[in-house]
Amino acid sequence: MNRKIAGIALIISTIVFQLACGSLIRREGETKTAPHFKPGFNLFSPEQDVEIGRDSAQKISKKAPLLRDEATVAYVRQLGARLAAKASGYKFPYKFEVLAIKEINAFALPGGFIYINAGAIAAAKNEGELAGVIAHEISHVALRHGTNQASKAYIAQAGLDILSALGGGDSTDIGQIMGAIGGMGANVVFLKMSRTAETESDLEGARIMAEAGYDPRDMANFFKTLEADERKNPPEFLSDHPNPGNRVEAIKEVLPALSVSAKPIRETEEFNRVKSRLAGLSSSKTMARVASDGSRVSSRPDLPSETFAEYAAKDGSFSIERPDNWDALEADSSNVILAPRGAYGRMNDSVMVTHGIFIGAIYVNADTLEEANRMFVEQQLKANPDFRVTRLSQPVKFGDREGFATIVSGSSTVTGVTEIDTIYTAVTNDGRLFYLVTIAPEDEFSAYKPVFERIIAAIRLS
Ligand SMILES: [Zn+2]
Repeated sequence: MNRKIAGIALIISTIVFQLACGSLIRREGETKTAPHFKPGFNLFSPEQDVEIGRDSAQKISKKAPLLRDEATVAYVRQLGARLAAKASGYKFPYKFEVLAIKEINAFALPGGFIYINAGAIAAAKNEGELAGVIAHEISHVALRHGTNQASKAYIAQAGLDILSALGGGDSTDIGQIMGAIGGMGANVVFLKMSRTAETESDLEGARIMAEAGYDPRDMANFFKTLEADERKNPPEFLSDHPNPGNRVEAIKEVLPALSVSAKPIRETEEFNRVKSRLAGLSSSKTMARVASDGSRVSSRPDLPSETFAEYAAKDGSFSIERPDNWDALEADSSNVILAPRGAYGRMNDSVMVTHGIFIGAIYVNADTLEEANRMFVEQQLKANPDFRVTRLSQPVKFGDREGFATIVSGSSTVTGVTEIDTIYTAVTNDGRLFYLVTIAPEDEFSAYKPVFERIIAAIRLS
């Protein structure tokens, strides 16, 4: 489970995304005008987009598992370059990398740094569909959606007064803005696109595809596959690139305005070769457990020790017993992560935990435990969009008082394996919300269940 470090989650939830102006398709009788978008409000210059993107890309290259298969990477790069040549606006230095991650996803950093998961290539049925994914990402870069969102996040926080203080676009202090919205690691701002940005990228991507000799309907087909998959196994792609609604229809509607080749590129030998290469790579490679702090969480962490040791919050709000081989990562005097080595790591703005517990006491603006519990569960789901409630909140008794327990489950962003988390809540004597979240992969749950039960049984609240 992901836990956002202070600030970011809050900022995201308070941003109100404005709708871009202008209609997408102008109708003049029966004819339609090709989509044309201009980048929206931005505090940065295009050169600064590149600077920001390069900085984030450097951090990603240290932590994310880049696919080392030269033939695949070379293929994606030449396909990307052909599409990027048709991008409008500022000529960003587009650069493409493939990540050895099985989840279906792709993302773009400001300035042209584009990442395609191996899982997205494997999910594409042909080169046309893969071109659709890449053209969509190129459009996010060309339309400068990442820094547009960062700019809006900053204004939402600093207020519009800041505009006069900042002066012109060239003098924008990147450090000042990035610092305010959560540091250069504010990738959440760059990666999670608004629905308006999605529509723009779908339609601009369709134009790029047509001009590069592809059929935009292949992008629509890729989205259709994702959406069909959404219920049983929500693809990550849709959490970074939320469906603006009627996405497939919107792409089809713009077709008459585009000059789509009568013989578009669709099936290619190169694509088929790359796809079979990926299938041949060991599953552990495509299932790569993503790096944290530069080291792979490749092996399972040591099993919980049989010996338990007490852990007490510094402010005295609670004490528990946990296996003595679990580390305590303290956020402050009353919020801590307890987890074995190898089961936690920091990535950008989040602490990722694959096995262990989050525990703490926080102030929540709610009148009843029921309400506070609901808000807390919602917040966890927001920070982990791939998770769903699998057992509704039920009253439970622990720590000598009444509380709630809710089970949520989803695909771990770090390992891709299904994770089962239980969220316990109660009220401390000083009226704070006490929470405890147990985290374990589904396939190891039986080993962790008794440990969690023992922890819950020994909770003491004050
Ligand atoms: Zn997108």
